Amino acid sequence: MSDTNSLGFETRMIHAGAAPDPATGARQTPIYQTTSFVFKDAAQAARLFSLQEVGNIYSRLTNPTVSALQERCASLEGGVGAVATSSGHAAQILALFPLMSPGKNIVAADKLYGGSINQFSNAFKRFGWEVKFVDTDDLDAVKAAIDDDTRSLFCESLANPGGIVTDIEGWAAVASGAGLPLIVDNTMATAALCRPIEHGATIVVNSTTKFLSGNGTSIGGVVIDSGNFDWSASGKFPSLSEPAPEYNGIKFHEALGPMAFTFFGIAVGLRDLGAAQTPQNAFYTLLGMETLSLRMQRHSENAMQVAQHLENHAAVDYVSYAGLPSSPYNSAAKKYLPNGAGAVFTVGLKGGYDAGVSLVDNLELFSHLANIGDARSLVIHSASTTHSQLSDEEKTSAGAGPEVVRLSIGLENAEDLIADLDQALAKSA
Ligand SMILES: *Cc1c(COP(=O)(O)O)cnc(C)c1O
Repeated sequence: MSDTNSLGFETRMIHAGAAPDPATGARQTPIYQTTSFVFKDAAQAARLFSLQEVGNIYSRLTNPTVSALQERCASLEGGVGAVATSSGHAAQILALFPLMSPGKNIVAADKLYGGSINQFSNAFKRFGWEVKFVDTDDLDAVKAAIDDDTRSLFCESLANPGGIVTDIEGWAAVASGAGLPLIVDNTMATAALCRPIEHGATIVVNSTTKFLSGNGTSIGGVVIDSGNFDWSASGKFPSLSEPAPEYNGIKFHEALGPMAFTFFGIAVGLRDLGAAQTPQNAFYTLLGMETLSLRMQRHSENAMQVAQHLENHAAVDYVSYAGLPSSPYNSAAKKYLPNGAGAVFTVGLKGGYDAGVSLVDNLELFSHLANIGDARSLVIHSASTTHSQLSDEEKTSAGAGPEVVRLSIGLENAEDLIADLDQALAKSA
């Protein structure tokens, strides 16, 4: 099959990047558990090191199991190439690394995963990268925050934790008006529910830890490039447009065209930052992705049933789930997430902080832990955990106030989940 990309989404979930193993005929993608690859001869080694030939050298750069994952992720998101990383956070660094330098800034949505707000506010500052957080829903504020030193815009498609759907086309229009790339974190939706590149995103990042692997086994991330951005036009992205002395002075964009960002991510990003994904984790994630759309559909159907039930529960103040007609994001969900609004949403409890803590302690089927996107249903009280390092103001603006409990609805029987929530809410009331 020469062009997998012309096939339907469900076919690509299984076949993209995963031809039978050329060496053994193995049908499932083997785990290439090796650090290094033998060169055919000295001349080939020299060609590989100077990027004149593409091939495997060392698993910090490339590995066949990891390459299969990269190809599958690029195919499902509609990109030209992808770089897999050791975690979702590593993917965010790797996406920004080619674009940023000290003194430059990122305009980022304020509705982000709590860990991302920490990473952006603390670690990036030490790199000399400034972050300007803006209201996700205020496109005028996004535009106003951009200045001559801005090098990228960053938002989440479906924002963690609270059922917020970002107007990706609005953000993309602002980015392209300013000649800047838009990076979209698509972790919560996945390509099965939303494809940001089709709505104008330049780059997509994903924590593969969550729904892509789907079983809570493997930390990982991926950066997918649309191949649509002209890295040379503005002179603002010298890593991609100017000569790289260590590679015989090649200019990545001139030499590699739409693959420039992906090649830079491997040949410089993974080489120097070292945040490569392991072949074992890539294997588990490839396995998970074979059932991605089935799982996302079931996650969304279960979440909808549980959200509807909770919305009418006496102990519940509000439910933030974009799939509910009562959500201010319901029309955006219909546009950007037509196949379902995902598994994760937040519930505001009338009993505040104490009721939240009591609920997580009394649930039996739900596991109280810091993850989303598992086959199992998960729960966390954000204010005392994932968002505890944020100020009260940041907590509330990130949708994680003291009364908020975040649910990640799994693939179990929805009625069992509802019964578990009812018994735990009865105890916490
Ligand atoms: C979990 C998560 C991340 C970070 O991914 P890790 O794999 O935990 O590093 C980033 N963004 C979102 C939306 C997430 O849910």
